[in-house]
Amino acid sequence: MTTNSKNKEKLIDNFGRVIDYLRISVTDRCDFRCVYCMEEEMEFVPRAQLLTLEEIGTIARAFTELGVSKIRITGGEPLVRRNILKLFEDIGRLPNLKEVTTTTNGSQLSKLAKGLKRAGVKRINISLDSLDAEKFRRITRIGELDKVLAGIDAVVEAGFEKIKINSVILKNRNHEEVGDLVDFASSRGMDLSFIEEMPLGFIDEHDRAEAYYSSDQIREDLQQRFTLIPTTETTGGPSNYFRLAETGTLVGFISPHSHNFCADCNRVRMTCEGRLLLCLGQEHSVDLRHVLRSHPGDLEILKQAIRESMTIKPKGHEFDLTAKPVIFRHMNVTGG
Ligand code: SAM
Ligand code: SF4
Repeated sequence: MTTNSKNKEKLIDNFGRVIDYLRISVTDRCDFRCVYCMEEEMEFVPRAQLLTLEEIGTIARAFTELGVSKIRITGGEPLVRRNILKLFEDIGRLPNLKEVTTTTNGSQLSKLAKGLKRAGVKRINISLDSLDAEKFRRITRIGELDKVLAGIDAVVEAGFEKIKINSVILKNRNHEEVGDLVDFASSRGMDLSFIEEMPLGFIDEHDRAEAYYSSDQIREDLQQRFTLIPTTETTGGPSNYFRLAETGTLVGFISPHSHNFCADCNRVRMTCEGRLLLCLGQEHSVDLRHVLRSHPGDLEILKQAIRESMTIKPKGHEFDLTAKPVIFRHMNVTGG
């Protein structure tokens, strides 16, 4: 369903939710292999099946003409895709867009921070699960903490409006670091969100149910050191926010298990092959690459396919960590 008053079209799903946020996974490849996201050996999408950067730009344009005002470029690791800055520049110029942003593991930021800023990225999310080089290596399997910290310094120096750290917390891996991660973020004027692990894709490195560490537990741990004041502030995402009385830092909790966030869902995701996913935890999807390649240059047909996709956006999802994964795609495919 859409509304079209004064040419300001909106995407509205069957449950009355306005969809104004698109996340695009520009690659499923990554220079890390985080234990909760991927297996050590992964098969990636053959390059010929990837959308080209031009095709991604066209789909982004179609969405913005349908009322989408925020686009997040993600992956896999978005900043390892060749010529990625060109895509940021093209999307940054779309007239109806309020914000282009990205989620990155930080490994390429030393090189790319300034270019991203120039392309119009004002806010950026950087994933950082540990401040201990060895633990960081164990969680990411091949990541180097030093590189990421240098990337974070580069972003601070480039002067982004807002930098947010994202940390997935796993019991007995990094749960004892939550206070240090808060200190790290607040000492640099950054916000931070803690994320509960989600059962996306098969992994055999650990048992997701055993590694589960809830947002409530993290909050209790933090309360030993900080005063957390609940706030209704939102950044348009699923985080539930608190402010630290001590430093004013915004600390968010993304709790897909303990606090389902589907009722306020305002987003859809597109994979690097052009599959439009209507829900993080369900398989409902539309093949936009097929639409685009069957009707090259026809933005109207593409827009119609996007409008129609709203009718199959599910009401929500429930995750069950003890069950075998019902969602077989890993997070690098879904685009976090
Ligand atoms: N590579 C980039 C990064 O790590 O920031 C962007 C893509 S990554 C898939 C996006 C976010 O999803 C990261 O913050 C990552 O920690 C999170 N993530 C990956 N797999 C997850 C899972 N199974 N459960 C919860 N969060 C996950
Ligand atoms: Fe790569 Fe991000 Fe997945 Fe880690 S979470 S493996 S950095 S895509």
